[in-house]
Amino acid sequence: MALVVQKYGGTSVGSIEKIENVARKVARVKDAGNDIVVVLSAMSGETDRLINLAHSITPDPDERELDSLVSTGEQVTITLLAMALNKMGYRARSFLGFQIPIKTDSAFTKARIEDILDGKIRQELKRGTIIVVAGFQGIDAEGNITTLGRGGSDTSAVAVAAALKADVCEIYTDVDGVYTADPNICPDARRLDKIAYDEMLELARAGAKVLQARSVEMAKKHGVPVYVKSTFSDEGGTLVTKEDEEMEREVVAGVTQDKDQAKITIVKVPDKPGIAAKIFAPLAENNIVVDMIIQNASVEGNTDMTFTVSRKGIKQARQIVENIAKEIGAKEVVVNENVAKISIVGVGMVSHSGVAAKMFSTLYKENINILMISTSEIKVSCVIESKYTELAVIALHEAFELGKRD
Ligand code: ADP
Ligand code: ASP
Ligand code: MG
Repeated sequence: MALVVQKYGGTSVGSIEKIENVARKVARVKDAGNDIVVVLSAMSGETDRLINLAHSITPDPDERELDSLVSTGEQVTITLLAMALNKMGYRARSFLGFQIPIKTDSAFTKARIEDILDGKIRQELKRGTIIVVAGFQGIDAEGNITTLGRGGSDTSAVAVAAALKADVCEIYTDVDGVYTADPNICPDARRLDKIAYDEMLELARAGAKVLQARSVEMAKKHGVPVYVKSTFSDEGGTLVTKEDEEMEREVVAGVTQDKDQAKITIVKVPDKPGIAAKIFAPLAENNIVVDMIIQNASVEGNTDMTFTVSRKGIKQARQIVENIAKEIGAKEVVVNENVAKISIVGVGMVSHSGVAAKMFSTLYKENINILMISTSEIKVSCVIESKYTELAVIALHEAFELGKRD
């Protein structure tokens, strides 16, 4: 007998038939004598629909209210799944984040889980109950409903698995595992049987949305083995776990694209000590994550400062940056929203040279201009025009010979 945590994503619970399919899968685990906790997302498209409703009232909704609104999508799916299980003769109970409670900080729309009290879940498990938990949401110290950022149900599932010391955490989605590139873009992508936490973390941070990056961070921290599997097939699957000898040691493990990018340039910034601090401190105070930063060599005492932020948060970022630009006497602020970040990731890069150069020459062969570059020990990222995203992913996947093998 094991304690199993399963998470089902939006497409897996996108209709009544699909929810009934999930109920049958969950029932099979229970019938085999296991305890089971299920974490669900909202129906596919529902979170976007709710965000659009808010934006039809105001372009800049209050984030506390926005979180209360968008968290309702998960309330629909968890209650329907509990009903479907009850109808099949199982005792099932749904729980919203605050009912567990799943405690978070107060960073609305991107809150972090601080603690999960496991008392109620354990009590119900003892009674043989199938627990169904709303993903993506929690409650802060003041009693406000919070959400964990897009794709946050993955993090809810891993956090619940860690809190309960579950034997396994299974993430069910619309692909049958983690691939060398997004299989919906790259037809030649290859499924990995196993991937190390660190590699998965970099892929997720670089935009491979099959797992939310924070869920991988949490899995690594607590040593939770995570299986990514398909809801619609029993084949395949990828285990995300500690690095071991059996793992493939490729120089590059995968190629990833991230279209949620915008580039901001502050033109002609007077180049003196403290300028970077003046620009980036207010962004950090407003929880705006800055990714790549480039400062040009200064000409006649002025420099250009270019950096990337999430496209979703561009309005707020632009406003803040325009205010700072005025304050520090910069010439102007230029925003480009039509950019994407392409990354190659692999722990094997640490000991290999020429990987970045091969990436640049591959993009050059496709006539794709590189706008920004950043490198780390196990990742190289390039910002390019977003219309070349698919072309770049396919070309890099081919150049690094990541494709299907016999
Ligand atoms: P869910 O709604 O189940 O959480 P997501 O849409 O968040 O599903 O994540 C699954 C999607 O992640 C896939 O449909 C696929 O397009 C995308 N994806 C991006 N990169 C990868 C990758 N390297 N391997 C597998 N899937 C990927
Ligand atoms: N429903 C939320 C979203 O669409 C959370 C999730 O799916 O993981 O982002
Ligand atoms: Mg997801």
